[in-house]
Amino acid sequence: PRVATPRGPMDAEEDDRRPVRRGPGGAPARPAAPAKPTRPAGPEKSRGRLTVVTAQSSDDERQRSVASFRRRTQRMSGHRHVEAKEKIAREVTVPETISIQELANRMAERAVDVIRLLMKQGQMVKITDVIDADTAQLIAEELGHSVRRVAESDVEEGLFDTTDTDEHLESRPPVVTIMGHVDHGKTSLLDAIRKANVVSGEAGGITQHIGAYQVTSPLGGKITFIDTPGHAAFTAMRARGAKVTDIVVLVVAADDGVMPQTIEAINHARAAKVPLIVAINKIDKPDAKPERVRSELLQYEVQVESLGGDTLEVEVSAKAQTNLDKLLEAITLQSEVLDLKANPNRDAEGTVIEAKLDRGRGPVATVLVQRGTLRVGDIVVAGAEMGRVRALIDDKGANVASAGPSFPVEVLGFNGTPEAGDRLAVVENEARAREITDYRQRQKREKAAARSATVRGSLEQMMSQAKTAGRKEFPLIIKGDVSGSIEAITSSLEKLGTDEVQARIIHSGAGGVNESDVTLAETAGAAIIAFNVRANKEARDAAERAGIEIRYYNIIYDLVDDVKAAMGGLLAPVNRETMLGNALIKEIFAVSKVGKVAGCLVTDGTVERGQHVRLIRDNVVIHEGKLATLNRFKDAVNTVHAGQECGMSFENYQDMRAGDVIECYRVEVVQRTL
Ligand code: GDP
Repeated sequence: PRVATPRGPMDAEEDDRRPVRRGPGGAPARPAAPAKPTRPAGPEKSRGRLTVVTAQSSDDERQRSVASFRRRTQRMSGHRHVEAKEKIAREVTVPETISIQELANRMAERAVDVIRLLMKQGQMVKITDVIDADTAQLIAEELGHSVRRVAESDVEEGLFDTTDTDEHLESRPPVVTIMGHVDHGKTSLLDAIRKANVVSGEAGGITQHIGAYQVTSPLGGKITFIDTPGHAAFTAMRARGAKVTDIVVLVVAADDGVMPQTIEAINHARAAKVPLIVAINKIDKPDAKPERVRSELLQYEVQVESLGGDTLEVEVSAKAQTNLDKLLEAITLQSEVLDLKANPNRDAEGTVIEAKLDRGRGPVATVLVQRGTLRVGDIVVAGAEMGRVRALIDDKGANVASAGPSFPVEVLGFNGTPEAGDRLAVVENEARAREITDYRQRQKREKAAARSATVRGSLEQMMSQAKTAGRKEFPLIIKGDVSGSIEAITSSLEKLGTDEVQARIIHSGAGGVNESDVTLAETAGAAIIAFNVRANKEARDAAERAGIEIRYYNIIYDLVDDVKAAMGGLLAPVNRETMLGNALIKEIFAVSKVGKVAGCLVTDGTVERGQHVRLIRDNVVIHEGKLATLNRFKDAVNTVHAGQECGMSFENYQDMRAGDVIECYRVEVVQRTL
């Protein structure tokens, strides 16, 4: 219809998303619009095509769609005068993908015309098919329209990182993550700090783990600790563009010194440009050598203050609760240097630190508010999920009405469970929230689809490789506590291989099983072996979703044994033959219906019905097959023993002769092991 009713470019914009053509019966009944008299009917009548307007004005005045009603009100507002039937060049908004129907609507062209154009180019499409933006642009331009390309991700525009001006900024507490080598006391330190702070007179006293907590510094002010130690969590959040941590406390055990994960932590912190504070832990131990830690750190360009550097260091004991105050003071000092600020008076933005589905409370996400203030009643999006904040609960289990910058809170009211690392934003209304989450969910689905496609690809590849190489591979991912044990495991597993089957270690490393291991296992079709380490929650969940088994061991021998057995399963099974007995054919009878029957004498062993037989003539096997019938006198029997006479017939074979020997044997399928 709109082909004939020219309008300004503004209208083209506004009408883009609205379906254009509608049958007269397809619309909800509405009272006739008052706009009627103002609209000249002439030129429209002259059109031959059935349109909303002609259809309605000719024979069905009572039916009017919402869209048409809206268009009329628009027309009433003035800026329109109907000209002769003339094609209008429109600016068509084209997202990354668009359906034929939608494209036609936006151009105000008939979908069949679009389809016809595509057919001319050799593409057979249906009206519901989705085409990419390039194709859509070609078509639109062919039809004389111009195109405005938009990315779908535009819906996210303005969601984050709108800048605050300086005068709105206020100081905020630092957010601290504790990192370090396994067993150097990260968890103990977090617990100790928290307990000490609660005991020293915080309200409540009952604490609950929500993934982050806040304590008061002896210098005044608050400090927020992220309570999910682990480099993976830190990196995962960073990978998603969420910079949560302001300060990393690097825990190094004084009795153990710098270890692989200590170095990893240094690198992570450096990559994130986050300053370090070194906490030399376990200072209570008799064999503690804090000096060694200091000098070892120098190798990794971490120069502590006492050695003339600018990295703060504190000797602590999580166990004896020594110097915890000093550590908090150091954190406060460091944060003063950083001059951390945020605007509390705006819509909240934050990051999901942890999220779970709680049986009683539904989806629960622990969110660290980073700017603005989150309030009960706000409409939020995080990742592909949205919700209206029903309640905010702090780390002491108390309900709070709002949460400002650096404040960790549990957020109740999400429709689904977001993921750790998802960024949270408050949006103005539910429609906007839905627009964003719809887009993200679509993206998620597409990613998942793309991922499963690659899985299939790689499995197929693996199989064909195995086939062409004539050997099977047993892909494995090995995670262990220390690199020594991993080396031991790897070499003994590699020794297991034969010409036919071989363990292939795709990835091995020290540390717990994390999500990326699971993703890798999924793509490679590998099994995950965890030696003296465990999988974190994300990894466990991901493994469950992907149907990947994580096997835990603490004895190398057991591990190797199990892999051996599993690899054995990949060996082609063998058929093992057991000799049962021989019979000599004395005479051949022709029996109606059955065919030829051999009258035999069992010379040794037994002959059993249904078993495999060979017919041997002059020591040459001339037939292999199965025994069809076995009779003694007139009766069918199951077994005939040596010395007895019997009648035998073969399945599908007739050419036996007197003097031939029938060898009877059993075949068992045997699974091989290494
Ligand atoms: P994480 O793996 O880094 O989280 O380390 P944990 O906090 O689980 O601590 C590992 C072990 O070290 C535990 O057995 C703790 O009891 C012990 N530990 C932690 N801090 C101290 C400390 O200050 N002194 C002593 N003697 N032992 C500690």
